[in-house]
Amino acid sequence: MHIEKKDTQTKYNLPPQVKFCTKCVISNQRPRIIFDQDGVCSACQFAEFKKTQINWEQREAELQALCNKHRKDDGSYDILVPCSGGKDGGFVAHILKSKYGMNPLTVTWAPHIATEIGRQNLTNFIDSGFDNIVGTPNGHIHRLLTKLSFIHLGDNFQPFIYGQTNFPLRMAVQHNISLIMYGENGEVEYGGNMKNAFRPTREVADHDNHYFSGLPPEFWIKHGVKPQDLHPYLAPPYEKIKKNNTEIHFLSYYHHWDPQENYYYCREHTGFRPNSARSEGTYSKYASLDDKLDGFHYYLGFIKFGIGRATSDAAHEIRDAKINREEGIALIRKYDGEFPQKHFREFLEYCNIDEGTFWTVIDSWRSEHLWKKEGEKWILKNTIYDRNNLSEGAYII
Ligand SMILES: [Zn+2]
Repeated sequence: MHIEKKDTQTKYNLPPQVKFCTKCVISNQRPRIIFDQDGVCSACQFAEFKKTQINWEQREAELQALCNKHRKDDGSYDILVPCSGGKDGGFVAHILKSKYGMNPLTVTWAPHIATEIGRQNLTNFIDSGFDNIVGTPNGHIHRLLTKLSFIHLGDNFQPFIYGQTNFPLRMAVQHNISLIMYGENGEVEYGGNMKNAFRPTREVADHDNHYFSGLPPEFWIKHGVKPQDLHPYLAPPYEKIKKNNTEIHFLSYYHHWDPQENYYYCREHTGFRPNSARSEGTYSKYASLDDKLDGFHYYLGFIKFGIGRATSDAAHEIRDAKINREEGIALIRKYDGEFPQKHFREFLEYCNIDEGTFWTVIDSWRSEHLWKKEGEKWILKNTIYDRNNLSEGAYII
């Protein structure tokens, strides 16, 4: 198979010079992030804004009014919550039901390959008192799309993202539910396009830009996927979404968003359990546990942007004042860019590629402004830690 070299820097509009936020640990290589003149990233600016400027009581009243607007009294579902059984969707569904008296339908877009802990958490969540629909796409097509996404987009998670975005919309239209509530707005909370920072909703028209990497699912038709195979990945027709009066909101607009607090909440209320071991590439045990293939999604982020899973985790934990910047840097030095070895064989089998092809694809996404080769080894040119002073046990790239 011929794998062409990608121009990652142009494709994602990455600045030629790597800079790290002076408050957290994220770099300016995160797509769409903005740094101010003091070198502070947009996510840190937003975190500061949240701490000082938002009147959360007023936001809560807004949420109450929103719920009242959509509430039904005939026993049918009045809100749809996308939820894998993890801490974030679990928190959203539980608080809307218990505190705001809504009648949620929760929907789950199935993982590529479910983990044992992920399955258990979804079962525990359902058992704690929620109706749930799981959407599972045709496995043959899902594997093919995953392979194509890995090669052509440098992200094996693209088919999952299509489903995660569009399956809830389709279920909302099908069940006449006009309100969809997601957890956090990742673009705003973790750095990205800030146009939605001061409003609670997501426009359907935005989907193409943020979630499809500029490529609608139809793109895959030219790679041999049939139009009818794409049906599960597509949004319902726009007229149907409109006719249903569908609104998509983020709870993070109405309620202070703190992933660690969500974890404590779900441990108490929805039977959520953390993993027994940390996730590869980071130090955390309670985020994104459902899918055996998600480590490759994070690893590709490390290859394309020099930003691994530990950097992302440390950045938001610094903003949430759970750890300080020095602790974050130490964790990054230790774990960032660790290869997801545990499920490597399963990934190769799932995508039906050999190990040589895997590494050719990985290397095709390395940009020269981020990587250099020394002998057989790829070196990340810019790190937030001092490369010359690696402590014992540190993960060396
Ligand atoms: Zn920052």
